[in-house]
Amino acid sequence: MQTASVILDIPTQALDSPYAYGLADGCAADGEPVSVGNAVLVPLGSRKAVGFVIAVDRWETEAACPVDPRKLKGVTRVLAGPFFDEEGAACAQFLADRYIAPLSACVRLFTPPGGVPHLVNGPRGQRLEAPAVGEVEERWAVLTAPAEEALEQLSKTAVKQRQVVEALAAAGGSLNMGQLNQQVGSASAPCKALADRGLVAVEARRRMRGAAEALPEGASVQEPLPLLPDQQNALKVINEARAARDGSVVVLDGVTGSGKTEVYLQAISAVLAEGRTAIVLVPEISLTPQTVGRFRARFGNRVAVMHSRMSAGERFDQWQFIQSGGADVVVGARSALFAPLANVGLVVIDEEHESTYKQESQPRYRAVDVALWMMERAGGTVVLGSATPSIETLERLGRDGRWRRAAMPHRTNGKPLPPIEVVDMAREFSAGSRSMFSGALTCALADTLAAGRKAVLLLNQRGFAKFLLCRDCGFVPSCPSCATSLTYHEDGAKLVCHHCGYSAPVPPKCPECGSPYLKKFGAGTQRVEADLRALLDAMPEAGPEVPIIRMDADTTRFKGAHERLLQAFGAQPRAVLLGTQMIAKGLDFDDVALVGVINADTQLNLPDFRAAERTFNLIEQVAGRAGRGDVPGQVLVQTYEPSSAAIMGAARYARDWFVAGELQKRRLFSYPPYVRMANILIWGPSLDDVKDVAAQLHRQLEVLIRDQVGDSWQLLAPVPCVLERLRGAWRWHIVVKCPQGSDISPLLLGFFRQRKADKRANVAVDIDPLDL
Ligand code: ADP
Ligand code: ZN
Ligand code: ZN
Repeated sequence: MQTASVILDIPTQALDSPYAYGLADGCAADGEPVSVGNAVLVPLGSRKAVGFVIAVDRWETEAACPVDPRKLKGVTRVLAGPFFDEEGAACAQFLADRYIAPLSACVRLFTPPGGVPHLVNGPRGQRLEAPAVGEVEERWAVLTAPAEEALEQLSKTAVKQRQVVEALAAAGGSLNMGQLNQQVGSASAPCKALADRGLVAVEARRRMRGAAEALPEGASVQEPLPLLPDQQNALKVINEARAARDGSVVVLDGVTGSGKTEVYLQAISAVLAEGRTAIVLVPEISLTPQTVGRFRARFGNRVAVMHSRMSAGERFDQWQFIQSGGADVVVGARSALFAPLANVGLVVIDEEHESTYKQESQPRYRAVDVALWMMERAGGTVVLGSATPSIETLERLGRDGRWRRAAMPHRTNGKPLPPIEVVDMAREFSAGSRSMFSGALTCALADTLAAGRKAVLLLNQRGFAKFLLCRDCGFVPSCPSCATSLTYHEDGAKLVCHHCGYSAPVPPKCPECGSPYLKKFGAGTQRVEADLRALLDAMPEAGPEVPIIRMDADTTRFKGAHERLLQAFGAQPRAVLLGTQMIAKGLDFDDVALVGVINADTQLNLPDFRAAERTFNLIEQVAGRAGRGDVPGQVLVQTYEPSSAAIMGAARYARDWFVAGELQKRRLFSYPPYVRMANILIWGPSLDDVKDVAAQLHRQLEVLIRDQVGDSWQLLAPVPCVLERLRGAWRWHIVVKCPQGSDISPLLLGFFRQRKADKRANVAVDIDPLDL
């Protein structure tokens, strides 16, 4: 006898399990064969449900079947799919177990968005609704005879028909009616006439939405560049790792402008030559047509693209295109890992240190870890590229024999990295300046613009937490036991540590220097733009009306806005690009002479143990935007903490020194990579309930940890989240830490599986959290 394990497609916060259904001869009641990955309709009590088959099992005897066969109901119907295979099902299960997430949410990663039928409750009971998106068709005109023959048969006066034949011939034999109409005017009548003569066929074809970026058929493909010595070496390291076929990892540690993309491209070529395929992950924000274009230019139309700014229809079409075997290379955001690409032998993760590789909703997975798991099973290779590999990656490199480093310390243009100058804003302040632009930055802007060049200004705006800073000496109050800065709470006028709950009243004066100028930090891009406008207008040497292009969450909300703003910046001879973190990477303009960081320390003072690392990375990344062409670059970093390790280290490109110090700190205060962390989130509408549920959880976990693992694990007390109020909910959290070598998930998974849901508050676990 056979059973199907079906995970119901019902959104839930709780951990869910598959249900068993019986199969008659491997089929549903409608006689369709059922396989792993199918969406199916099943009975659920007196109702119906849609679910996904995650396993089909055959039992030798009825006794061997773990569920009583007489109680088994059958699968009603096969609805769609298969959307994934056994390997996909295994991956979904891995995600559910590792990240303590609902299995249904994990399975969902493998299905095309909007592409699955679902049940809706109507007045007359449940009704099965077709998928929100599906295939669309369009009409194509196709030449069915050689163009010369067709033209011979047509009279000289059949002008329109001749034009159609010529247009079709020029396009290689076929065009869709839309394009044809554009080229020759209304084409349907002449096409019909041509069809009657048997010279042209009009047929319906599948239309690929968003395929505007696609190469025309037969377009020439860009040849590989001859590699520079660093690149040759990197490719060699990657090929050695690939030959091992054991899930080896290569960290491509290359400075900005060292030509990492060309290495990816050639590594991919080698993988394709072996008949395997490749996935390339890039940070969401750099998924511009330019980036995609570099892959298309090399691999033509065998490249598929998947990211969240595409419409549901576009994503559906790309998904189907991949599933049908049309693509060998998928370029996309983190979720592209779950594309239905067969035989993946290489996963490239560009800008590996980026926080966008962590999903912040269920399942809260880390793309790097999922890629490692996948390639280990597939005997493939993971390439982690970055100018600033994460501290966790660097630490792993030092101790894991399967991790290899390929260094690319030189820029392809042979130019050195631009010098970075640190500007002490506390000094500026005591010299009487109240502007957010220092004297040095003002002068540099004037010089740059006067010379007809471009400047990039970064407003470091990560985080929502407000912190207190002394404008005289740069002092920021921090927690005595966590070494992260304290967060300012407007309501109670107190400072709170979001790790351990320590709190202190807001001091009236700076405890370091006695200054009364304690400033609450956090300024918006619009404010800065207005100030910058005033500054530039009062700067005759900069010339009239210097264009300011502002790039932040507001100005890039609409599809294509990001590209349009960058194009506008590129098209200007002299201009200032003012933006948030999103401008730090991927910008490749030859004539950017100046990069200014307006406030390097905002991030440094978030209550976040990765704050220093993120600040260091951001400065190195944004500095890399300067001096990419023949114009020499200059970088100015404004800060109230010129002597912090992150800023001093970044300014001198002294990564090894910075990382060594940072690792020491992480060891001392028990942070990753020396511990694994889990962050347990508790949220709900009532603060008392949330606190109560948190306290109860804490007590239960205390017992569990004491009994099961002893005091090698740390359990911290429940405290408010950095964002204590979000969308009407109160949010608290509990942090658990376990030693580096242990796995934190199984114990917590066991606990949360048997824990009864408490209606008063939601609970979710974040394994290896990025933000607390
Ligand atoms: P990274 O991603 O490491 O910052 P890019 O891949 O953007 O660097 O490369 C920087 C520049 O160097 C690009 O303009 C690229 O076309 C050029 N480049 C890369 N490899 C070579 C090569 N082998 N020879 C010449 N130019 C190269
Ligand atoms: Zn002070
Ligand atoms: Zn603390």
